[in-house]
Amino acid sequence: MKADGQTASLDERLKRLIALHGPISIATYMAQCLSDPDQGYYTTASPIGAEGDFTTAPEISQMFGELIGIWFLSVWQQAGRPTPFRLVELGPGRGTLITDMVRAIRSNPEAAEALDLHLVEISEALTQQQKTSLAKIDSTATWHQSIQTLPDAPLFIVANEFFDALPIHQWVYHDNKWHERVVGIGRDDAGQNHLTFGLGAVKDLPSPITSPRPDEGAIREQCPMAEAIISQLSNHLSSHGGAALFIDYGCDRDGYGDTFQALRKHQYASPLQSPGKQDLTAHVNFMALVEAARKALSESSINSITVSPIIRQGQFLLSMGLLERAGQLGAGKGQAQQDDIRTAVERLAAPEQMGDLFKLLALYGSEIQAPVFSELT
Ligand code: SAH
Repeated sequence: MKADGQTASLDERLKRLIALHGPISIATYMAQCLSDPDQGYYTTASPIGAEGDFTTAPEISQMFGELIGIWFLSVWQQAGRPTPFRLVELGPGRGTLITDMVRAIRSNPEAAEALDLHLVEISEALTQQQKTSLAKIDSTATWHQSIQTLPDAPLFIVANEFFDALPIHQWVYHDNKWHERVVGIGRDDAGQNHLTFGLGAVKDLPSPITSPRPDEGAIREQCPMAEAIISQLSNHLSSHGGAALFIDYGCDRDGYGDTFQALRKHQYASPLQSPGKQDLTAHVNFMALVEAARKALSESSINSITVSPIIRQGQFLLSMGLLERAGQLGAGKGQAQQDDIRTAVERLAAPEQMGDLFKLLALYGSEIQAPVFSELT
């Protein structure tokens, strides 16, 4: 609280923190901006959809969730129909994906009967929206603040645009060494303080295997929280069975580049502007996720799991029958609705739209024999 009784803005609080303790890592900055209990972006805002700051695949068309629901139905059947059918979503946003998935899964009466939903969500506002969405299809769920409280049982886990919202560290190559990229305070010409990027402590970071020697100023990114979640889920699937499907935008190889970005009202903005008021994300390094899963497995002595190849969203959706589903939905409809469906197909699957940038990775337990993905590569 300020002396006049008003709460300090997140921007002011961060500046005070930095003035007292020194510059903070990008990860600390990102975590504060996104999940501060009082002023964090996800904890306070309603970010998704045309009215919000960004639109995601399930918000573009119901076909996205339906096809993913069918994928999970088939994987659950291959896993021997463990009952209950515990379907978990990490970061469910407005609840659109889970609702479309459930509608599709209900085409199978046995699966419909067995379904038990678990949603992992930190935002109170979005939890309310998820409740409303599920109520519309006569469904409900158990909510979790983190993956720690998920049941010790076979789990079928989906996450769309979840990992891109987790805090990353950045490292800058300077004078032949990797330095942590930090957020400090600068002063502009008018004498005003503002948040600015700087160089922090040196870290002994191995260069990426697949990339050439870094140039001066090269940037690398790491997301320890994503790696920790993958590691934990890999262990879970290995001990209890089930499968996970992760969808996000990102790259399928290790390399250099600054992907830390801010979106506000569908426009890119500076990530240091207006902390807590805009969406902050970074591209997901799928190679690092694969490595985290493999590492967890090599350290675990129990069963094993299969790590799928990394595939593109367009490839996945087309092989799951996107065009056939679009045809069904459009049959007997007017021209305008058919045009909308065609536009949605293009947005989701065309290589120059989401089709190539968005990738999928699946992990599944040893009880699932049939390859769920390899036929796609
Ligand atoms: N999957 C949705 C929403 C993506 S936005 C869609 O595709 O539309 C990211 C979601 O992850 C939001 O629901 C956000 O509140 C949630 N989230 C972000 N960080 C989280 C964390 N650390 N733990 C749990 N949920 C988180």
